[in-house]
Amino acid sequence: MSRPSSTGPSASKPCSKPPPPQHAPSPAAPPAAATISAAGPGSAAVPAAAAVISGPGGGGGGGGGGGGAGPVSPQHHELTSLFECPVCFDYVLPPILQCQAGHLVCNQCRQKLSCCPTCRGALTPSIRNLAMEKVASAVLFPCKYATTGCSLTLHHTEKPEHEDICEYRPYSCPCPGASCKWQGSLEAVMSHLMHAHKSITTLQGEDIVFLATDINLPGAVDWVMMQSCFGHHFMLVLEKQEKYEGHQQFFAIVLLIGTRKQAENFAYRLELNGNRRRLTWEATPRSIHDGVAAAILNSDCLVFDTAIAHLFADNGNLGINVTISTCCP
Ligand SMILES: [Zn+2]
Ligand SMILES: [Zn+2]
Ligand SMILES: [Zn+2]
Ligand SMILES: [Zn+2]
Repeated sequence: MSRPSSTGPSASKPCSKPPPPQHAPSPAAPPAAATISAAGPGSAAVPAAAAVISGPGGGGGGGGGGGGAGPVSPQHHELTSLFECPVCFDYVLPPILQCQAGHLVCNQCRQKLSCCPTCRGALTPSIRNLAMEKVASAVLFPCKYATTGCSLTLHHTEKPEHEDICEYRPYSCPCPGASCKWQGSLEAVMSHLMHAHKSITTLQGEDIVFLATDINLPGAVDWVMMQSCFGHHFMLVLEKQEKYEGHQQFFAIVLLIGTRKQAENFAYRLELNGNRRRLTWEATPRSIHDGVAAAILNSDCLVFDTAIAHLFADNGNLGINVTISTCCP
């Protein structure tokens, strides 16, 4: 009882990835396959079959960061400005090290410097400034993304953890593979994808077939396509990689072009069907703010090996039924 397999427009093209750091021969995509990197910002010619993307897009971005703090007093600002690194203007946070003359520089910058940026004096041996560290522990610092709207102030030990998940952190390009360095607001993600990654096909509807062609391609390969429904855009990713030497696995996942909070309103189902067998995975889509890498690392997605892929593949092509639904809170 397999659903009719859609052909043609649903075929997603494999995209070559930069090879993993150590092993693996460099993945060579066949000439027919469009690669993500090939569709760089300069690429011309909209494909004739380019999918029409409708709907209001990602929807309201940002959203409450939670918490928040009252207006920061001038004295408080004066206090935090004492911790500004003279090189990068980020805060100098514990462990706080000073030059021979007492000037501070943050630890990231310090590693790249051969002398004090303020007095050109020696930075070694390291002199710790315990008094400033104590003051730092008594001060609340603004989030790194204060300029883009985050109003939180935090103890320095809580800052990195918050900044990793801050809703005001810029979004990175959701395309798997680290080739694209684009960053921007949530509202700009779709237009970035449409302009810089034109080879990605979009299908409309909540129930579609994600057809990955040539799953036998060697090396690490990504297949990507977009699905539009419920006024939102979802990115479907199938990634083939070798987590353990000699053991290739497939990882399939759905991302929402939206915030984590918006993602909680949806569920997705991935289903491999055929030859009197069925393999199903259901979960909440990931926000592109989290990306695919962590999900794949933790196997928090549909995972199967090449033997299973071959059970369901037809001529080297693998169709994955994707169903998106809304869930009432
Ligand atoms: Zn610095
Ligand atoms: Zn100095
Ligand atoms: Zn923040
Ligand atoms: Zn990109």
